[in-house]
Amino acid sequence: MKHTFSIIDLIFPEKCPFCGRITAAQELYSAGSCKNCREELITYKTADELPHEALEKVLKLYVPMRYSGNAKKAMLRYKFGQEEWLSESFSRIMHNYLTSNGAYEDIDLITCVPVSPKRFAGRGYDQSRLIARKLSEYSGRPFRDLLKRNDRAKTAVFTSSENFAERASEKRFEAADTELLLFGSRVLLVDDIFTTGSTLNECAGILLGRGAMYVNAACMMSGRQDIYDAPLEETA
Ligand SMILES: [Zn+2]
Repeated sequence: MKHTFSIIDLIFPEKCPFCGRITAAQELYSAGSCKNCREELITYKTADELPHEALEKVLKLYVPMRYSGNAKKAMLRYKFGQEEWLSESFSRIMHNYLTSNGAYEDIDLITCVPVSPKRFAGRGYDQSRLIARKLSEYSGRPFRDLLKRNDRAKTAVFTSSENFAERASEKRFEAADTELLLFGSRVLLVDDIFTTGSTLNECAGILLGRGAMYVNAACMMSGRQDIYDAPLEETA
C-alpha cells in the first residue's frame, strides 16, 4: 500500500512530545506520539486486566500509559512546567485507548478530579479538566464540572504512610453544586495519575451519593507495580 504524505506534514514536521523525534504532524495529531513511544509507553492492557482491589467505588478503570521514562517526564512538564499544550497529546492517547476499549459506550457524562484552587492559581490551568474536556469534544459525551476541592482540607503532599492515613480520612472533595443530582447517570471520572486510588474512591463516592448509577475512572498513567511492574511513585 502506498503511503501518502500531506504537504502540511512536509512543511511543518513536528517533534514527538515524549521523545523529541521528528514525526509527521498527522501522526501526532491522530495518535498523540511517535510510533516508538506508543510501543514503549502505552500499555495495551484492557480495563478488565487492570487491578481493582483498592477501588471499591469505581466500576471500571482505564489507564493507558505507564508512569516512567519519557511519559513521566512529559507529565511532570505538563503539571509543573507550564506546558499546557501537552494536553493535546495526552487526550489523544486517552481517547484512542478509551475508544478501543469501548469505554464511551456505557457512559453518559464526563467529569474530572479537580485541581486545588491554590495549584490552579499557580499553574493557570487544571490538567485533568483540560484532558476531560477534550475527551468530551472527541466523543460527543457531555462534560460537566461535578466536583470541587474542599478548601478547608489540607492539600499538602504526603510523604509517609502515617500522613497517608491522615490524608485518606480527610474530606478533600465535595459536589460542585449543593443541589447536584445525577439521576442514574453513568459517569466517567478523569484524573492524571493513578496511585493509591483514594482520590478516585472519594470522588466516585460523592457522585454515587448524588445518584450516579456507577462511576468509571480514566487516569492518564500509573507507576503501580501491579499494573506495569514498575515501582510505585507518589505524586503531587
Ligand atoms: Zn516519541
